[in-house]
Amino acid sequence: MTDIPNVLGVHALVWVGDTSAASIATAIDQTTKAGYGLLELSLHDVDNLDVAGTRALAEQHGIRLAASRGLAKDADVSSEDPAVVARGEQLVKESIDVVAGLGGKVLTGALYSAFGKAHQPLSAKGRANVVAVLTRMAAYAAQRDVTLGLEVCNRYETNVVNTARDALALADDIGSDNVMIHLDSYHMNIEEKDFATPVHELGERLGYVHIGENDRGYLGSGHLDFPRFFDALGQIGYTGPITFESFSSAVVSRTLSNDLAIWRNLWDDGFDLAVHARRYLTEQLTGAGAAARA
Ligand code: MN
Repeated sequence: MTDIPNVLGVHALVWVGDTSAASIATAIDQTTKAGYGLLELSLHDVDNLDVAGTRALAEQHGIRLAASRGLAKDADVSSEDPAVVARGEQLVKESIDVVAGLGGKVLTGALYSAFGKAHQPLSAKGRANVVAVLTRMAAYAAQRDVTLGLEVCNRYETNVVNTARDALALADDIGSDNVMIHLDSYHMNIEEKDFATPVHELGERLGYVHIGENDRGYLGSGHLDFPRFFDALGQIGYTGPITFESFSSAVVSRTLSNDLAIWRNLWDDGFDLAVHARRYLTEQLTGAGAAARA
């Protein structure tokens, strides 16, 4: 196995749509067998999750855990309504507790707003609420050795941060050392000019990466400029997690799949998909990107 400085992760929706004990066991087993070192759980269905049991099983398999989520329309820290903001803060806080309980180090995603198309731009008051809440939550997370990620999402999923620059400005205003920025190639394709500039703009503040094709299907089957992205990651010396994210109507989470508009079948066999993606990522990381890093 060639040396790769990054842990390779896979999103749980490649395997299962919920977090019941049986689904978690499947996800951890398949993650291990497909050659990944990290499993990212979506906390949208967290009510079912056996936190201690999941942690123990992941440790047994030598798999790291990370978690992601978006907020909800009635629990959204970018709202102007104090009650909605308070529920959003509670959701972030509970999610930090879950990640700490899992022994994870990263909670990321749209921690700053609900997933879904906004019907107006973010207001100054709404943005101030995001900054105030995430500043408090970063302090709370720091006590639990958890880092918060701001995932840069496209305009149809949030009005808070659509570009790396938006996320940098937000992170600057939050001003906490344990808040990092998370890029996702699927969203970058929609909002960024290219795949290299945002990586260089972020530099060491890039803390998490999602790799997804433009249709969120098989890597390399679409039109994204992955060689350029991996070259840029190599040039900044990125050593954080790189997590493969893919969705198909073959694996459905009642909440997350609808929030992310997963209407089509892009694959049926998650294992074949994940093994293919791990090979693809390894090739990218040991090819041009690795040469630039050396
Ligand atoms: Mn993503």
